[in-house]
Amino acid sequence: MISATHVLIDASTRPIALLGDPVAHSFSPLIHNTGFRVQGLSYVYLACRVPPQALAEAVAGLRALGFAGANVTIPHKEAVLPLLDRCTPGAKAVGAVNTILCLPNAQGKTELVGENTDVAGFLAPLKPFLPSLENSEVVILGAGGAARAVVYALLTHVHPARLTLLARNPKRGETLATDMAAYDTRHVLRVVPFAAAGAAVRTAHLVVNATPVGMHPHDQETPWPHATDFHEGQLVYDLIYNPLRTRLLREAAARGATTIGGLEMLLAQAAAAYKWWTGHELPLQAVRAALQSSLGS
Ligand code: NAP
Repeated sequence: MISATHVLIDASTRPIALLGDPVAHSFSPLIHNTGFRVQGLSYVYLACRVPPQALAEAVAGLRALGFAGANVTIPHKEAVLPLLDRCTPGAKAVGAVNTILCLPNAQGKTELVGENTDVAGFLAPLKPFLPSLENSEVVILGAGGAARAVVYALLTHVHPARLTLLARNPKRGETLATDMAAYDTRHVLRVVPFAAAGAAVRTAHLVVNATPVGMHPHDQETPWPHATDFHEGQLVYDLIYNPLRTRLLREAAARGATTIGGLEMLLAQAAAAYKWWTGHELPLQAVRAALQSSLGS
């Protein structure tokens, strides 16, 4: 019934959902379904557009319909926490969940467990740069769910000398900073409005975009329009993966900065989620080939 290159969807197939809004741009169905197909695993991954007012019903539906798990994306990563039975310590610390495991418990009920694989995903492409980033200056644009994972990852694994968070909504930024205070043992985190952040961007060793500005179909937008602030010796990391090269990255590279796009983070966080749901390693070579052929590159 199941071969190495083909999975028959039948009565035993376990569904896994992506819950977000929008989801039409997502590469996650291609990534996970390629893994299931190549490894002959009887799962199917579906992208479900869930507006905020339907999130509670969608999460209850995972349990009711026997889903194996889910991914959670923009704008639900924080709102989903109170809808789950429990979270891993990492997800609780971040205050945002991007992966749910539907786990049968001893009483025969299904427990919904939240995890955050964005932390490991964010750090994966930074590994070669980690030694040079210790005691560096870092700027993060955005104060949402992804920014939470980025701040937590930086405070616990990179140990910068200064971490400047640019928040459009200062209250959201301050809440993030308060929630991360336990990990900010050297008091390096500060929240500033975009309009007052020019000097911080110019002196930063690492600039991370954790806003959706520049994401398809708004490819001509950038969260930091002052391109002359970028220069050689800087690392500019955009979490956006569609398009692969955002305007932010193109402008930073043109000024001599080293750039990292969001695809490597996407693959690393997907691999961690895939392992959690299936117990298998995501077949990265096959997944990269599928992405390349889908993107026509
Ligand atoms: P989110 O929770 O909605 O947070 C987005 C943040 O960006 C919020 O702080 C928001 O400000 C801010 N923002 C939105 N528009 C802005 C604008 N025009 N100017 C300034 N700030 C703006 O979203 P998220 O889940 O953190 O995701 C953020 C981005 O990261 C998305 O593009 C997502 O695709 C990407 N991402 C990529 C990966 C990956 O694996 N590569 C993983 C996670 C996320 P307000 O608080 O004022 O709304």
